[in-house]
Amino acid sequence: MNHPHDAASEPFLVFGSPLIEQAEIDEVVACMQSSWLGTGPRVAQFERDFAAYQHLQPTQVAALNSCTAALHVSMVAADLPPVSEVITTPMTFCASVNAIIHAGLTPVLADVDPATQCIDPAAIEAAVTPRTRAILPVHFAGRACEMDAIMAIARKHDLKVIEDCAHAIETTYHGRKAGTFGDFGGFSFYATKNVATGEGGMIIGRDEAHIARAKVLALHGMSKDAWHRFGDEGYKHYQVVEAGFKYNMMDLVAAIGIHQLARVERNWQRREAIWKRYMDAFTELPIGLPAPPAPDTKHAYHLFTIRVDETRCGIARDAFLDAMNARRIGTGVHYLAIPEHPYYQEHYGWKPEHWPNATRIGRQTVSLPLSPKLTDGDVERVIDAVRASVS
Ligand SMILES: *Cc1c(COP(=O)(O)O)cnc(C)c1O
Repeated sequence: MNHPHDAASEPFLVFGSPLIEQAEIDEVVACMQSSWLGTGPRVAQFERDFAAYQHLQPTQVAALNSCTAALHVSMVAADLPPVSEVITTPMTFCASVNAIIHAGLTPVLADVDPATQCIDPAAIEAAVTPRTRAILPVHFAGRACEMDAIMAIARKHDLKVIEDCAHAIETTYHGRKAGTFGDFGGFSFYATKNVATGEGGMIIGRDEAHIARAKVLALHGMSKDAWHRFGDEGYKHYQVVEAGFKYNMMDLVAAIGIHQLARVERNWQRREAIWKRYMDAFTELPIGLPAPPAPDTKHAYHLFTIRVDETRCGIARDAFLDAMNARRIGTGVHYLAIPEHPYYQEHYGWKPEHWPNATRIGRQTVSLPLSPKLTDGDVERVIDAVRASVS
């Protein structure tokens, strides 16, 4: 048995630690030695590789410095009238909601399905008003949202769809990649995500003209020749055609991404094996487990979330987090529901009880380590710690 005092001598298992290998280290060094650090040939290659992985043309993708930037630029490039309402989920990272706000639009929350933890299409339909112009679904934990139902609602009410694919690089739904159903998809390469560059993101779009505009918006609103203004073809004047942002990716970041992306499927297989081991090990415990992946979909296995209900487990969620920490296991909370945060309560009058499913999940959920870096021994340490904490 694993007692806390035994565990104290073990190394701390950092939650979401990325698996970094020699190939990306060498590529970063080569990039430094080339002296081309900013947006250049490595970003162009990363975009081509990402487009190929998503079955898109290179003109349908643009590398940015975060997924938050991708969502913000999508909202702006979607050209929605000011104060339009955008429906999203309360079970997401704050960036999904903040992107809507920064585009001058109004976020509206539709509760999640308690089993899948993804936005419930029936709740979207109920939230539609004459001012609704877009839906921002989040493929939570890497599980595809119900895109047939969501796209049917979008067609019925003539709404744009912007998919938050921060967890969903590998996700497919009925044979199609997540991010390709809507007008735009936003991806994250943050340090803990399935392809990790530290910070980084990608925007993809059905319409090449939308992506061309997104690229202009992401670099100060400068006309597209500006991307090449420091090349070897001589100085070129640029024109500012929009009030844009500073959201471009650096070659230094793309140097990491190229090699991380090349191993995306290998890392996915390792996370799937860990996921299955957890499901097996926890069947007898009184904790809530993730819903099994739906038929004809591919789950990206980004997060393995359990639910700790105090009445069933004999321990409160936050006490469970402390117990895991005492056993030197790093955990996460994805997420406290959006209406729990003071900013949204003060500005929108949101009360958690209006979204009971997301609120309940947010108060019980715990994310266990799922990095492909985990050894089999690490996985067993996590399992022992969970068992010891709930009994
Ligand atoms: C990580 C994350 C984001 C933001 O991604 P960044 O690349 O850090 O900006 C947005 N939405 C969700 C659901 C996320 O998990």
